[in-house]
Amino acid sequence: MDKTYVNRALADLVRINSVNPAFSNGTTNERRIAEYLTREFLGLGMDVNRYEPAPGRVSVVGRRAGIGGGRSLMLNGHIDTVAVDEMKDPFSAEIRGNRMYGRGTYDMKGGIAACMAAVKSLGDEPLKGDVVIAAVADEEVASIGMSAVLEHHKTDGAIVTEPTELAVCLACKGFSWIEVETAGRAAHGSRFDLGVDANMRMGHVLVALEALERELRARPHHALVGPPSLHVGTLHGGTGASTYAAACKAMVERRMLPSETEAAVLAEIEAILNGQGARARPTLTRLGFEARPDAPIVHALMETATRHLGARPPVTGAGYWMDAALIAEAGIDTAVIGAIGAGAHAAEEWVDLDSVAQVATILADTARAFCGT
Ligand SMILES: [Zn+2]
Repeated sequence: MDKTYVNRALADLVRINSVNPAFSNGTTNERRIAEYLTREFLGLGMDVNRYEPAPGRVSVVGRRAGIGGGRSLMLNGHIDTVAVDEMKDPFSAEIRGNRMYGRGTYDMKGGIAACMAAVKSLGDEPLKGDVVIAAVADEEVASIGMSAVLEHHKTDGAIVTEPTELAVCLACKGFSWIEVETAGRAAHGSRFDLGVDANMRMGHVLVALEALERELRARPHHALVGPPSLHVGTLHGGTGASTYAAACKAMVERRMLPSETEAAVLAEIEAILNGQGARARPTLTRLGFEARPDAPIVHALMETATRHLGARPPVTGAGYWMDAALIAEAGIDTAVIGAIGAGAHAAEEWVDLDSVAQVATILADTARAFCGT
């Protein structure tokens, strides 16, 4: 693998501020990094398509055309980052030892650089199927980039390059935000004869939710992502000390196993609300994913990674949600492999440069195996 190219591409990416606008009061976005990637993808001989579902929120898709008759592969990563507050030199791309430092080195411009280096290393070698790099906006917030790309691009397999410490990640949990609201009746604080206290009613709901949470974590654990769970993220009730609260709202976040559906987790919560004058309403649900162990992309990635790493890589699952789940939901077999490093969302972030090059090598060889030579 051409390490000079890997390090140069990664440094270029890190030096472009692409903090998600949700974390910068809208002062930054993915436009500049998308312009850079457009030029690079064209330089790698790829056709380029861009998608901009909201102003400045640009995702770039490069396609290396195959000669026909093979499976198509999507290599994916997100190009937005979280905020840079507290970081000393977020865009320095400084190299110390074998590490590069800066926001996004690990999560996950290292993955994007590995995708680029993989395509570069394929050179003019004919592959039967297409290799696509989908570099998407907004993964850190609402995934509008991945959603837009999936309306236009379907491939036979996908590899997401979120950092995994060179393990192969084959599942992640989903989540559902469910707003639970208890109803009361507003009245002056002295009028116990008229008022109905929504906050007191919520107390009963919270006790029942706590029992459900204990029950969830006693269920059989999923082999890769563990047990389901829930917590109450926010609680708002009432308008003042001298008024009976007319309403109380709790935002429940239910973390879901890959097999669980919104309807099922909602029904569980509705079942415990009986008699509390409460209702539950899902406001956002992201399903988890679990790869089919016999999917061709999983097989090709495991074989290739085992060969390059000298041992079968650990198979893991992620407790947090990632774009891989959207790709899988679109019917594309998906696996995740990425670099070694630390400091995602933290004040010091770094990536191990050798591991980025290793990921690039594994991606290129997986493309050969999966797309056909
Ligand atoms: Zn990430």
